[in-house]
Amino acid sequence: MTDIRLTLDEVMDLALSVLRAAGADEENARPIARCMWRAERDGAKSHGLFRCAGYAGAIRSRKANGRARPAVAATEGSVIRMEGDRGFCPVAHESGLPALGALAKEQGVAALAIRRCLHFAALWPEVETLTEMGLAAMAFTSSPPYVHMAGGRRKVFGTNPMAFGWPRPGQAPMIFDQASSLTARGEVMIAARDGHLAPEGAGIGPDGRPTRDPEAILAGAQSPFGGYKGAALALMVDLLAGPLIGELTSLEIEAEDDGAGPALGGQLILAFAPERLGGPDAAAHGERLFRALLEEEGVRLPGMRRAATRPLTPEEGVTIPASLHRELVALC
Ligand code: NDP
Repeated sequence: MTDIRLTLDEVMDLALSVLRAAGADEENARPIARCMWRAERDGAKSHGLFRCAGYAGAIRSRKANGRARPAVAATEGSVIRMEGDRGFCPVAHESGLPALGALAKEQGVAALAIRRCLHFAALWPEVETLTEMGLAAMAFTSSPPYVHMAGGRRKVFGTNPMAFGWPRPGQAPMIFDQASSLTARGEVMIAARDGHLAPEGAGIGPDGRPTRDPEAILAGAQSPFGGYKGAALALMVDLLAGPLIGELTSLEIEAEDDGAGPALGGQLILAFAPERLGGPDAAAHGERLFRALLEEEGVRLPGMRRAATRPLTPEEGVTIPASLHRELVALC
């Protein structure tokens, strides 16, 4: 496969051109393009330009609103409720995250509940934006069902991701950001396309038996990671990003969605001010834990891979498959 090398500025220009051509205005195109740009900058390829045609397709078909104006519907105590106006989440984050950060600093803990939005990205960008304000943060969203419940065989949960971030003064934050399925959906699809086996434990066939055949998993269901423990986390994410904030569960999203590309749903983001909860020593206390963990050879913190890539890409640029580049140029 031939690759094309792009500077980070070219990544941004290409993403913006595709989104504008699809009908997004500047208030929508810029935050969405920046989200893909951040992923390319950090070597997180699965949420970089690879996603651009999906964003554009949803905007062009009007499933997503490329002229969305997400707005705060209410702030009550430590809760901010936002209506996403059927736009992509990064657009809502533009005003929602600063408001959430300010409220968390005031209250100690705060929640941002975004309804009627589409999440087609990783969760670490919003969590990182909050850690940059000195806050710890968590984020949750759900999607149409691909994953079975422990003991079940029916698709009932999305790959329901969750992320947690902890600020580290003067250093990249600790952030984990993971799906509740053993493998990403895309990984199973790529295995099917390329004729490879899926990883052990990735899913079950329509007969409910574990299989590594990706076609059978796509027809059956993906498995949660860690058996019933991962299934419990998928259930938690479904409740937090669904009923808790007045949004749909994965099963309800399926009933409403056309099954093509990103789906409308909700996102819950929580922010915590460590100094308000644990006192002035909270950040230093966290650092002592990280130091102890990192003393052991072979250990790294979640988020360190992206942090190590970040200084390299402004110099070296990034590569994308030539076929993807052709597809995106054709969409401009
Ligand atoms: P991975 O399994 O690739 O990584 C999960 C986390 O584990 C990352 O934070 C990663 O940090 C960390 N990690 C990996 N290896 C190590 C290690 N050796 N030591 C310490 N930490 C490690 O992620 P998933 O495949 O589960 O999810 C991929 C992405 O897909 C996520 O960003 C998720 O938000 C997104 N997603 C989005 C959905 C949506 O609806 N919007 C649905 C499902 C998933 P690091 O980055 O440093 O490697």
